[in-house]
This record gives sequence, structure tokens and C-alpha cells, in this order.
Amino acid sequence: MNQQAFSDWLRKLESLSPSQWQQLHSHLERTQSRATDRLLEAHPPAYCPHCHSSTLRPWGSSHGLPRYRCQRCGRTSNPLTGTPLAHLRKRHRWLEFTQALIDGQALRHAAAQCRIDKNTALLWRHRFLQAPATHQALHEQGIVEADETFFLKSLKGQRHLPRPARRRGGVGRTRGTGQDHVPVLVVRDRSGATADFILEKLDATHVSKVLKPLIDPEAVLCTDGAAVYATEPQPSLWGARVRNTTATATATARNVI
Ligand SMILES: [Zn+2]
Repeated sequence: MNQQAFSDWLRKLESLSPSQWQQLHSHLERTQSRATDRLLEAHPPAYCPHCHSSTLRPWGSSHGLPRYRCQRCGRTSNPLTGTPLAHLRKRHRWLEFTQALIDGQALRHAAAQCRIDKNTALLWRHRFLQAPATHQALHEQGIVEADETFFLKSLKGQRHLPRPARRRGGVGRTRGTGQDHVPVLVVRDRSGATADFILEKLDATHVSKVLKPLIDPEAVLCTDGAAVYATEPQPSLWGARVRNTTATATATARNVI
């Protein structure tokens, strides 16, 4: 429908009777509900949420969602089982609520717009923000890139701080990577499979502990020039061959120059 036709259609809405408004409202809610369910149907779970087996088979439907049965453990699940979104009601309002959050609306405004209680909105926001954290890759292959970043350690809510309180984020007491920072390792392969890890410490032992079960032995691990990768660049430690992309880039630049 082009913009002119859409504007004409909107103007005609003014002539609807109260009962026709009610019918239109019900129809739109049903359409929104189907949109959420269609999204869930289009992304069936790859693994059983109970035993992580990949032997899932369709097993009818329940509460409007497709159901699957695991051939290994015999338990049933739907696309939301084991996720932060399990057991949440009013699926037909999820997309509208999500868009309101993306638009940066205050929680009570989003709740009013979606016609849900403010406590429901608070619960939904917590659950929706938890959901991306569960999307961690379990296996990465081919060319895999790893990089570290550092976040200031937050002690929000603690009564006795081991350091002076910071205001509005602030800065650490030491420059660079000190005890005020939490190291986070992000790993991604060329298919887009991504995983991130909060490390206790950025050293070979802790990095190896998270990389080895994740990366395919045939993969090529590309890193920057961080000293942690230079300590033991053998596949036995990282689970893959290591390639220092900073060194490669420098070498390439030298060749070009
Ligand atoms: Zn199972």
C-alpha cells in the first residue's frame, strides 16, 4: 500500500462505529499475537533444553506454541523452554514492548502504551535483557577472532567499599588494566557465532580455560599482539593455531610502503 492510500485508509477509520473499533482492535491484537508466534515457529530450537541432545522431533503444539520431544531424554519442550522468556504471558504485546524499549521510552510509558501493568513491564525488561546473554556460541571454527576489553568493576549496592565511591561511572585508580577493571574476552568466527567471557584474570591459564572447549582444533585463532597469546602459542594450550593479526597487518603495511 502506498503512502497516499494508507493516509486515505487512516482517514476512513474516523467513521468507524464503537463496535467496529472493538472488532478492529481485536483483529490487530490477533495479528500481533501471530507475528510473535510466527517468529518463534521460524526458529525451532536446535538442542533439547533438558539434555542438550540434537534429536528433537515435532510433537504437536501447546498453548499456541510448537512442541518438540527429545528422542534421547523423552522430555518435551517449546521454543521458549529454558529461556528467560519462558512462562511470560501476553506474547502479542512483546514486539510492541520491545520496540518501546529500543526507542528509549521510560518503563512506565512503555507499560501504558502496551496496556500492561508497570510491574509486568519491569519483569519483562529484566527477562528481555537476560535473553541475549544466553545466546552464547558453543563451537567456533574456521577463522576465529578473539579480543579483550576491560570494564570498570562495579560495586553498586555494597555497603562497605574497599575504595572511595565513584560518581557517574568515574575512572579507575590506575591507568590501563588494574584491579579496578574486569577483563572480558570476546570470541567470534566468520559465521557470526559469538561468545564472551568474564575472566577472573587475563592470563594464559584463564584464557585457555575458556578458549580450548570453544574453538575447533582446525581453526585459526586471530588475536592482537596481547602478551597473553605470546606466552604459549602452541595449539595444545589454545586448542587452535594462533595468528597475530597486528603483526600481519604491520608486515602487510610495511610491504605496501
Ligand atoms: Zn533431551
